[in-house]
Amino acid sequence: MDIKQASPDQLIEFEQQLSAEYYELQAQNLSLNLTRGKPSAEQLTLSDALDGILNGNYQEETTDTRNYGGLRGIMGARQLGADLMGTDVENTMAAGNSSLSLMYMVQLNQYLYGCCGEASAWKHLTAPKMLCPVPGYDRHFSISENLGIEMINVPMTNQGPDMDEVEHLLQSDDEIIGMWCVPKYSNPTGTVYSDETVDRIAALGKIAHPSFRVMWDNAYAVHDLVAEAPILANITERCKAHGTEDSVWQFASTSKITFAGAGVSFLHSSAENMGNFEQLLGVTTIGADKVNQLRTTQLIPDMQAMYLHMQKHRKILAPKFDIVLSHLANDLGHDFAKWTKPQGGYFVSLDVKQGLAKTVVELADACGVKLTSAGAPFPYGKDPDDTNIRIAPSFPPLQELEQAMKVLTTCVKLATVRQLLV
Ligand code: PLP
Repeated sequence: MDIKQASPDQLIEFEQQLSAEYYELQAQNLSLNLTRGKPSAEQLTLSDALDGILNGNYQEETTDTRNYGGLRGIMGARQLGADLMGTDVENTMAAGNSSLSLMYMVQLNQYLYGCCGEASAWKHLTAPKMLCPVPGYDRHFSISENLGIEMINVPMTNQGPDMDEVEHLLQSDDEIIGMWCVPKYSNPTGTVYSDETVDRIAALGKIAHPSFRVMWDNAYAVHDLVAEAPILANITERCKAHGTEDSVWQFASTSKITFAGAGVSFLHSSAENMGNFEQLLGVTTIGADKVNQLRTTQLIPDMQAMYLHMQKHRKILAPKFDIVLSHLANDLGHDFAKWTKPQGGYFVSLDVKQGLAKTVVELADACGVKLTSAGAPFPYGKDPDDTNIRIAPSFPPLQELEQAMKVLTTCVKLATVRQLLV
């Protein structure tokens, strides 16, 4: 039915039909979950060889990985991180199982101690602010919120953050001290930043506050869903060209490559930033889990092995994204919503009609399908248009995903028709 052309009577009839479908689905007592972007058990199994791979040999060159020490991690893991992020190994650290903790530590360090002496600590500013491309990753926003850093929404375009807006904001407020970025297969829109966007972000260090830092979270660097994957421009090279190496912190991890809870995280920045950060890190730990770093590099010794391994993930994930996208196209069509068609990453971003995202999430919940809370991909959990819903297809098995998408699309249609009838 073309809802734009429908008469009031046709809409009433359509609402009754959709309600009946909804109650039928509700009667099935489903219990399905499309919330967090976790790898499925089948994906985790791809890395089961990690267990026992060392076979009693814990030595990496002169390092006994079982012992204390080595704040920057073992060389093999640092090299893997550098190759993954496109950075120099010298200023690349391999750390513990969570890049998110590294992000928090980096932000905390800048907040409490500053990038360049105590006077540069963000805590001394009246109202330090972080730019947040939206929709974005809720856990980034939780870090800023936890530190009391104000967040400013910046719209995402299909090229990355709206850079005209970013540059304008930086010129009009000199207490903007950073920006969150997921440059490849952004969470949740799947956007890959264009070459021009990467270059303009690398140049921001020339116009921003001296302690301005981009948080470049390359969490999905190799998480392609297509064979001909887009290539992200190298921000380290762009920063070198602009002389702004201090302005970017880069992060990645093997969380969605090997075991999500037992991966290795990576960090890169300028020599000065890294030296400064190590002072804080050294207070909190004598070193990360080097045994895990060693076994990870034995399973994935180089980028060739990495791409082969990621192809196996793709084989499991791509059919799940196909299910989501075909349900959206076949059940909904563009009268009801618009959505992204990602070439990689872990999410599909669905935009329903303004003011309906919360209603759809509630309807789905009452029908046994858990969705990420409406508003979660925005700072303070507030979607100004109440329009965005993040779909995470990786975890459920195919058949459950089919059922969950049927419920979701029915809820979107029902909520839209009911809104038109008000
Ligand atoms: N960054 C992004 C953009 C993510 O989507 C996630 C997990 O979903 C993470 C970081 C978490 O990374 P880690 O497991 O290394 O802490």
